This record gives sequence, C-alpha cells and structure tokens, in this order.
Amino acid sequence: MSRFADIVLPLAQPAYTFAVGEGLAVRIGDAVAVQFGKSAVYTGIVWRLHDTPPAKGVAKPILKVLYDKPLLSELQMRFWEWIADYYMCSVGEVMRVALPSVIKAKAHCEEEFEPYTPKRERAVRLLSEGCSEESLEKIKRRAPKRYGLLQTIVGAGGEIARSALDVDATTLNALCKAGMIEFFERDYVRDSGVTRALLPTLSEAQQRALEALRSGLEVKNVALLHGVTSSGKTEIYTHLIDDALSNGKDVLFLVPEISLTAQLVERLQHLFGEGVTAYHSKLTPQRRTKIFTDMLSGEGGNFIVGARSALFLPYRNLGLVIVDEEHDSSYKQSEPNPRYNGRDAAVMLAAIYGAKSVLGSATPSLESFANHLSGKYAYAHLTERYGGVEMPVITISDTIRNVKRNERKGHFNKELVDAISERLESNEQVILFQNRRGYSPYMECPECGWSPRCPHCNVNLTAHQRSGKMVCHYCGYGEPMRKHCPNGHAGELRPMGFGTERVEEAISELFPEARVLRLDGDTATSSSAYNRIIGAFARHEADILVGTQIVSKGLDFAGVTLIGILNGDNLLTASDFRAEERAWQLIMQVAGRSGRRERRGEVIIQTAEPTHPIYATIDNYEMMAHKLLAERQRFGYPPYVRIIKVVMRSPKSELLVEGSMALGDTLRSRFGRRVLGPVTPLVDRVRGEYRVELMLKIEVSASYAKARAILGEAVASLRRQPKYRSLTIICDVDIL
Ligand SMILES: [Zn+2]
Ligand SMILES: [Zn+2]
Repeated sequence: MSRFADIVLPLAQPAYTFAVGEGLAVRIGDAVAVQFGKSAVYTGIVWRLHDTPPAKGVAKPILKVLYDKPLLSELQMRFWEWIADYYMCSVGEVMRVALPSVIKAKAHCEEEFEPYTPKRERAVRLLSEGCSEESLEKIKRRAPKRYGLLQTIVGAGGEIARSALDVDATTLNALCKAGMIEFFERDYVRDSGVTRALLPTLSEAQQRALEALRSGLEVKNVALLHGVTSSGKTEIYTHLIDDALSNGKDVLFLVPEISLTAQLVERLQHLFGEGVTAYHSKLTPQRRTKIFTDMLSGEGGNFIVGARSALFLPYRNLGLVIVDEEHDSSYKQSEPNPRYNGRDAAVMLAAIYGAKSVLGSATPSLESFANHLSGKYAYAHLTERYGGVEMPVITISDTIRNVKRNERKGHFNKELVDAISERLESNEQVILFQNRRGYSPYMECPECGWSPRCPHCNVNLTAHQRSGKMVCHYCGYGEPMRKHCPNGHAGELRPMGFGTERVEEAISELFPEARVLRLDGDTATSSSAYNRIIGAFARHEADILVGTQIVSKGLDFAGVTLIGILNGDNLLTASDFRAEERAWQLIMQVAGRSGRRERRGEVIIQTAEPTHPIYATIDNYEMMAHKLLAERQRFGYPPYVRIIKVVMRSPKSELLVEGSMALGDTLRSRFGRRVLGPVTPLVDRVRGEYRVELMLKIEVSASYAKARAILGEAVASLRRQPKYRSLTIICDVDIL
C-alpha cells in the first residue's frame, strides 16, 4: 500500500501530496475529496501513488474516495498530461476545462461538500387504458402535434425522460388530463444508443474521395479531406462514422463553433438515430455531467458531436475523430489556460487511443496542407460541388476607380449596386460581408481630430447607432454616444469607417423595398437568436443578409446567388503573418455560400488595391497555398518554425518594461536570435493593464520540448523574484 498520493486539483498549481489513510483503497485516476487551504474541500484526481513524504510540512489525509471506479482512465491521464506539457500549463488547469462543474465539486468546508450523485429524473409514460384506438384516431385528426408526441413516446419504448421531449408543459398536461400519459420518477436513464445508419448514396466523386480516405487511413493515422464548399464532405464522413460505430468504437466529430453543433446533430440524427450526442460548454452542467457519467459507465460505441471541450469525455474505445472546418481559428482557446488548439489536440487524442483522424476543410490550413505535401497525412480531394453546382465567379471591383468616376454610392461600388438590384428583381438572395460589427469603428471631430477612446484600453470606441452607445470591443466598456468633442468644437463628431450596422442602414436606404437582416455579435447574442436569423434567411423571409465572419461558417443558403465583400482591404491589413491566409480562407468560405444549380454564384470584392497579388490567384487553392508556403519558408514562419508568444501584463508599465527586458535577456542568452522583442503590441493596454510581448521562434528540426522547458524555467525564475511576482506571464504555444 502506498502511503502518499499526488493529487491534481483544479488550480494553476502542481499536484499536491496527500496522505493515504489506513485502510483507504485509492487507485490512480480516482476522484477524491481533499481539504486544501484553510478549510476548503476540493475534488481532486489521484495522479500518482508513492511512499515519499512531502519535503515541507505534513501531508493532509485524503478525506474520501468519491466513486466506485476511477474517474479517469490511463489514456485520459496521458492526454491531460500532454496538453499540460505541450501548452505550458498545469494539469490542474486542464482539469478545469476537462470536467463538468458538477463533477469537480468544491465547497468552503467539509460539511458543505456535495459530490456528484446520479440523480433521479422526471419521466413520462404511456397509459394503455387511456390510449384506445378510438381515442388515438380522434387525437390524430384533431391534434396532430399531440399525436406525434405520443408516437415519440411509443418509439422510445413507452416511456421517455421529460427533458428529452421538446414540448411545453401545457401539451403534456393536456395529455395527462386525458388519461393518456402520466408523469413518474425514475433513475437517470442512459440515452438511447446509436443505431446503424441508412447511409446517403454518394456521387462518383464522393465515392472516390471515400476510397482514398479509407485506403490512406490503412497506412497513415491522419487524413486530410480537402473538398470545396458544398461538395458533400459530411456525407463522406457518415460512411467512415458508420464503419467505426459498427465495430463498437466511439466517434468524435468536432466542429469549431458551438452554434454549428445543433444543425449538424439534427442532420446526423436522421441517419444514426437519437444516440448522436451534442457536447459543448454551453450545455447545462447537469447535462454535461450526465453525458460524462453515461460514457464512464458505458462500454463505448458513443457518437459525440461537439466543440473542443468534447475532447475530454471518457471515451472507452475511440476509433475515429473528425475535425470539420479544420482551418478555423476558433479551435484555439485564447483565454485562459490551457491555450490549446482543439484540432491539434484531437490528432494527439486519436494517436493516444490508436484511433484515426480525418481533418476536413474547403480551405485547409497551410499546416495541414504542408502535412499532406510532406506525405505525413493521407489526402483526398473533392473538386466538384455536389449536384453539379458550379463554383462562383469572382469579380474584383476597384473602389478608387468608382470614386474617380463618381459611381460609388455610399459604401457600394457601381458593380455591386447593379448586381444587387438585378438579384432583387429576380427574387434571389444576397449576402453582404463586412468584418466589423457596430456602426463605425471610430468617431472623429472634424476640427481637431479628437476620437472617443476607452478609458481602460488603448483603443477607439466603436459607435453602435441602435443602442445609442459607444462600446469598447476589447473590454465591453460602454458610454452614451456623444455628439461633440470635449474641446468645445461646434462640428458634430463624424463616423469614420463602417461596420455591419452602418451597412445595414445604408443598404436599406439604397433599396428601401428589400428586406434586410443582420447577423453579427450584436444580433446573434444567443444560439436561439442566431438560429432565428439564419432560419428566417433560409426561409427567404429576407433578401439581404449583412454579416461578419459568422456568415462564413458552415451555413448553406440555397437562394443566395450574390456575395458582396465590402472591404477586401481591411482583411489584409491585419498585422500578423497569417493575415493573408485568413483573408483568403475567409473570402473563399464566404464565396462558398453562393450559387445553386440553375444559377452560378457571383462574388464581388470591393477593394482599393485591385492589383494586390492575393486576388490574382484567390480561387486557385494550390497556387495560393504554394505561394504562401514559399513565403512562410523564406521569412521563417509556421509550419517551418514553431512560434511561442509570451504575453506579459501588468497595470504598472515601468515594472512591466523592466520585467520583460529581464526575461528577454535571459531568453536571448539561451536562444540567441530566435527571440524577438519585447515589443509593444498594437493595442498595448486592455482592461487597465499594459501589455508587452516576446516571441520565440523554434525551427522544426530543433527539440520543441526542450525549448518549452527552457522557456518555462526562465519564466518561473523571473516569477521567483519578489518584485516581479505581480506580473502576469502567459505562454501561448503555437500562436494562431
Ligand atoms: Zn474637436
Ligand atoms: Zn476597453
């Protein structure tokens, strides 16, 4: 029997040693209750058992083992360790994101500590005496919706959890009164399993891609499915998913945005039944816990569709991981630790389980495409859209020439205005894309140039007309819109630049008869608001949709034949090395939303710089990828080097400068010219804290693990100096 256990707590700290009391059976991976700090009680995970007492002080005893079997398997522990090591954080920080809050219970004192216990649930069952054929016939005619509900209960075997029914209380109470159903309490029942699918028939091109993936995955662990938008990648996945499920394996299907899971789950449930489970951080803690514990007690064969937090579920027998829209930067967690990339972590998770992974995109990231070129990934290419729909035509519209000829109407060039009015006449739909929300990015006094700025961040406030506010997009600070500058000038502040709100207003003025909707962070404030807007647009209840990035993500609107990109230039002016790749992927993703069988889609890009090289090859993926990869190689950027960004923050700017110089010197003594900075970022103050950054570029041939270890030690030794203790230091590995 080991006398001590190292226990991981959900904190940014290393594991702590606790004593294993006499007669207490503790296994690695067990969830335990321990006291930490004055009297707080935490749920911790037993990470290591040993006989070495702690160097300082006396180890406190483990209070209790929480469940009858370990919460984490050895494979999950390896995965957590990999994330912590690779992304330079503690295993405790991984625990924070990995476990549903109910499972990692915590309390101020032992008396209040309540570990998770399986709950009983309210359920509904059919009453056969109330469901005579006659009464069923009657209800079928008079209340088809209620009849459908009864059918659902029959389909579930006569009883079903109340929470599984998407129906209001009134309907259920009415059926209850009629004696057809009754409520009762039961043990929480596992959701119904995945059923075998009736798979969609594939086109010839899809079939070829599927074969390429299957044979590629026989020899390689990762495959890249490169298929233009609307080429039917999901149909191909379903065949691979079916292969895995029919062998009793678990399947994980990752999407970059939570908002995309609902539509996808619905689509997949048509094929695989109710057992397709959505998992992401916006589900209630109870729901997340149920999914987690169901999988823990189950035998595998789960089909999970989710955002990156689904990587941490207790898979028994993981066979396949699909990462859809793998190029999407939302896979990276930017705040807080672990700052992991869900795509890269998914590939690692699959490797740990001996599973296969498939990365899919219409515009693969340069990293993944390079892995195909080097032969590391298997590759399948789908070049045609499903159903023979042609790729859209891309037109570059010269804004300067429009201005010179006096043909520009507000924010719109003549080419775009003409195309919009033509689409409206033929009752087709239009999407207008602008990557800034709000009314205008900043306001300016016409006389002295003064602009309202955020008092906490070094940025301009964005004007939001409808709410009558000026808002900081970095910290959320807002104040009422003001008309004049504080220097007493008479001229009113004028809006400079334009965001989606101003586009919406301008397009409504230009086409008063058109119905306009807006989809951005201000209108899609919840997933129901988001679904309402895209639902209305899909049903053609609006003619024009104005939106930010959100419109580029996974949406398909059959009626859209024109896409206007209002300002191609500000996509390209971002200061980091990925600006061009991002602009290109974004434009191609937005472009992919247009066109249908009868009519080829058109994309009009407004730009003041029509000769920018990006436009010459924008719709040729291979040419663009090769060109950008060559530039990355020449200037030393990923995938040819790896970049770790060290962000330092403090409200005290002098201390910050001093500390960052000290860290820079230490790093330079070890890494030489691989260290860049410290530099002040464009936005150098956010939420009242100053920011400084350092970059570490490590060539692929060098040991990344060693570089991370040296960096980690340098940061730790800086933190050990009392005067720098207050600095916040963040290591962002593989920046996006
Ligand atoms: Zn002024
Ligand atoms: Zn701010």
